[in-house]
Amino acid sequence: MSFAKVDKRDLYRCVACGNCRSVCPAFEQTGRESKNTRGRILIIRDAYEGNLTDDSVFDSINTCTTCGYCAVTCPAGVHPPDLVEGARSGLVAKGLMTPTQMKIRDTVAQYSNTLGNSESRLGWLEGTELTVPKNPKAVYFVGCLDAYRYPETAVSTYQILNQMGVGLLEDEKCCASPLLRLGFVDEAETLMKHNLDQIKKSSADMIIAGCAGCYNTLKNNYTLDGINVVTVSEYLISHLDDLKKAGLGKLDLKVTYHDPCHSGRHNNVFDEPRELIYEIVGKDNLIEMTAIREKSRCCGGGGGVRSGYNDLSLAMAKRRLEDVPEGVDYIVTTCPLCLRNLRDAGGDIPVIDLIELIQTANNRS
Ligand code: SF4
Ligand code: SF4
Repeated sequence: MSFAKVDKRDLYRCVACGNCRSVCPAFEQTGRESKNTRGRILIIRDAYEGNLTDDSVFDSINTCTTCGYCAVTCPAGVHPPDLVEGARSGLVAKGLMTPTQMKIRDTVAQYSNTLGNSESRLGWLEGTELTVPKNPKAVYFVGCLDAYRYPETAVSTYQILNQMGVGLLEDEKCCASPLLRLGFVDEAETLMKHNLDQIKKSSADMIIAGCAGCYNTLKNNYTLDGINVVTVSEYLISHLDDLKKAGLGKLDLKVTYHDPCHSGRHNNVFDEPRELIYEIVGKDNLIEMTAIREKSRCCGGGGGVRSGYNDLSLAMAKRRLEDVPEGVDYIVTTCPLCLRNLRDAGGDIPVIDLIELIQTANNRS
């Protein structure tokens, strides 16, 4: 059944007012009507009605990062990222997909991660003295990027969480976020079922996600009866006393914070990372960007745009760097995909994960 995932009421609720147009980061870079929210919705309507079902729609529908800023500005209550994802799955069901979509689908199917890495997903644990407790109350969901691309972040995160009794899944696989965002619903179901079985087997009633994309997917796409999903920052702020007892110190730095769309705007995790940063550098030394919280500008990396439209993705990341205030030592974030895209944009200020700031503060206590 094609376009089964498109909410018809949402699709026709749009009154084409154009409020969303100015905030769309893809439109900001391209200036193309077909690459802003309103244009995408009109194209999705055409595709939904069967008038446009060839690959001419790809560049419109696939340049959306699913950042969700448009939904914040919409007076009619439309949620465009869901329409975009639904349209992608409708096109996939008709066999219409880009080479990038196919590559990501095939890579995840073959390797169970987005990076095409055939090594152990727990390779980052080797050579450390970290242990995996039996029957933990909470487990750390590492994610593909930290497991393979940023193992030092995985080690630092687990060093801190493990002291608090947190464990790991025996056989974590990709959370399925890239598949869901790109329209591969059936393939995503297979991965989600595997991870769900692993979560049930672990006996934990809490999952702590190290990546904003994993967090959003685990929280909103999995059926997790009675199991809570939190970000690392939410978990740590609720265990602040333990963190302090373990030696959290202060740092004489000025930093700024980039809100990842999928933990921030999509799930309202705005305060917890900031509260942790206040603890380390002091409230006055977190200098905010010019666009923050629900109005934060997207890094450009999500929704498959980094893979499929790399120049556009980096242009969005460069634009995001223009929001960074002068005089800060670091740009701090809480998502490895944001971190990667912002680093690749090539600014002068180092981009770090919040966990690196915490680890540095731990070493200064
Ligand atoms: S703001 Fe909402 S109603 Fe207006 S064009 Fe955008 S999606 Fe449609
Ligand atoms: S989710 Fe973001 S990129 Fe996609 S249409 Fe909305 S504002 Fe544009």
